Amino acid sequence: MIVVMHRGATQEEISHVCEHIVELGFKAHPIYGTERVVIGVIGDDHAKTEAMATLGIQPGVERVTPILKPYKRVGAEMKKERTVVNVGNAAFGAGKFAVIAGPCSVESEEQLLSTAQKVKEAGARVLRGGAFKPRTSPYAFQGLAEEGLKILAFARNETGLPFATEVVTNRDVELVARYADMLQIGARNMTNYSLLREAGATGKPVLLKRGMSATLEELLLAAEYIADEGNEQIVLCERGIRTFEPFTRNTLDLSAVPAIHMLSHLPIIVDPSHATGRSELVRSMALAAIAAEADGLIVEVHPAPEQALSDGAQSILPEAFAQLMEEGRRYLAVSGRTL
Ligand code: PEP
Ligand code: MN
Repeated sequence: MIVVMHRGATQEEISHVCEHIVELGFKAHPIYGTERVVIGVIGDDHAKTEAMATLGIQPGVERVTPILKPYKRVGAEMKKERTVVNVGNAAFGAGKFAVIAGPCSVESEEQLLSTAQKVKEAGARVLRGGAFKPRTSPYAFQGLAEEGLKILAFARNETGLPFATEVVTNRDVELVARYADMLQIGARNMTNYSLLREAGATGKPVLLKRGMSATLEELLLAAEYIADEGNEQIVLCERGIRTFEPFTRNTLDLSAVPAIHMLSHLPIIVDPSHATGRSELVRSMALAAIAAEADGLIVEVHPAPEQALSDGAQSILPEAFAQLMEEGRRYLAVSGRTL
């Protein structure tokens, strides 16, 4: 439930209500808005009515209202203002748009650095590249592990671009967080709840991809695990879901973008690469995502896609990426946004 404080409520009254919430066995989550303070009461939904009655009569309290959705911290019911997630000088959300780009996997220093320089020049704000790869086949390239993280850190030094990279197991969270500016939780791990908690606890921004068969409610509940660790620097990512259509690798659910904007204060970006699995479809789906008011894009770019160790078929060349960014600028301008 949400405790809405009076406009003029004092800090003492706010603290008192928070203490009372904790005494009742819940967690208190105060949000200082521009006009007033609201306090989220986080915990098991049972025994609510009794708690409601005592909270409603505390000094400074205007009203107490229930949160109807199962996700609390990431839901729009609790927080009306949109969350902005910052990674280096990239900002996602509340009208701010940024692009993450780079190869699917880190393969070598040369491959990553040349890509990083080119995507930066084209306007990308965050570099991507997997050092730990969650591959469908155990025999496929699994990533360079720590060596890959070192290469990413080297490219950051050279270009100034912060980087996002995937963490696939709890065992690697500490290691990946030591290097990365943003932790990616992939589609295959969206329901790995202990991994979500550990990634959240690092305090680093988290890029959370939608599971291939996850509903939007399940995606938001996954984000809730991260937020419950006190970390609301979460960027959601629509990367396509499994349907009966085999022509594309997945089916891009673009309606997820405005739907998430209705349900949550978190930013959502679109991954046209994994959504389509086809480089020739990336441009149109990226532009469609901008039109749908996504808060950013994550695009796979490779200097020689035919030689890529993973996801070559969906990777675009740096030149195609630069062109896409040019067009993207014009699409963004329509809604008064910039790159
Ligand atoms: C990736 O970003 O390379 C990746 C593995 O993505 P997803 O988890 O969306 O499949
Ligand atoms: Mn990939």
